[in-house]
Amino acid sequence: MKRVVIKVGTAVLTQDNNIAKERMLNLVSLIAMLKRRYDVVLVTSGAVAAGYSTLKLDKRKQIGKKALAAAGQPILMTAYKKKFDIYDIPTAQILLTEDDFDSRKRTKMFQEIIDAHLENNILPIINENDITSTPEQLFGDNDQLSAHVAHAVGAELLVILSDIDGYYNKNPQEFKDAKLYKSVNELPQSVLVDTSTPNNEFATGGIVTKLKAADFLISRGRKMFLCNGFDLDAAESFLLRDKHELGTLFEPKINKNQS
Ligand code: ADP
Repeated sequence: MKRVVIKVGTAVLTQDNNIAKERMLNLVSLIAMLKRRYDVVLVTSGAVAAGYSTLKLDKRKQIGKKALAAAGQPILMTAYKKKFDIYDIPTAQILLTEDDFDSRKRTKMFQEIIDAHLENNILPIINENDITSTPEQLFGDNDQLSAHVAHAVGAELLVILSDIDGYYNKNPQEFKDAKLYKSVNELPQSVLVDTSTPNNEFATGGIVTKLKAADFLISRGRKMFLCNGFDLDAAESFLLRDKHELGTLFEPKINKNQS
């Protein structure tokens, strides 16, 4: 079966410092449908915000953020487990850092774990292990982590579910006349170095980390689809009905030798 990696961000998964249970259930239902057609790997944010529901620490401070992530990770996984149980889908937790992709040996080990899960119909749920890691060992955002995961597991596609319909020519939260790109084949260096623009107080990514993720994948011959995670219609159409309505598809330029 083809493999897809689904990445869901803090904006979609949390609401008022809590897990947005209904949106999580919608995501779980979508994944249950996808599993009939694809091998699915989920990369999820939300641990820090989930931790904040029980522990009021300052997430802007390094130790506060790590303590929140440690408290929130089991809350996040329990919330997922309850929902995947409805569909009889067993889950596994994998916590990774940038270091895990540093050596072939470690990447191979990770690939074999994922293979073992997928062969046994288990859904791997991945998050960055920022609890005991130093900033140098971390990607710092799950957009880039999910791109590395997608590449390492040989995924056909990475789907990033965010709070926007895709990639626009300018920030749609600021400019009403921003235009959505339907498909993008290359990213100029200038858009990859912009300052981060996360929209949610717990978000760490913003559009730049998504573009870096896209750039990483298209330069390796893979695809990424950025779409709305509040309303999953675009993701569903694209993945299950082969229809590209809303959402931005980042894909490599068609190679003449393949056409
Ligand atoms: P997530 O938690 O899903 O990773 P982020 O808040 O980190 O989401 O990133 C998405 C946000 O990036 C959007 O809500 C929007 O405010 C911002 N953004 C800035 N520039 C753009 C752009 N050109 N196109 C789309 N979104 C943009």
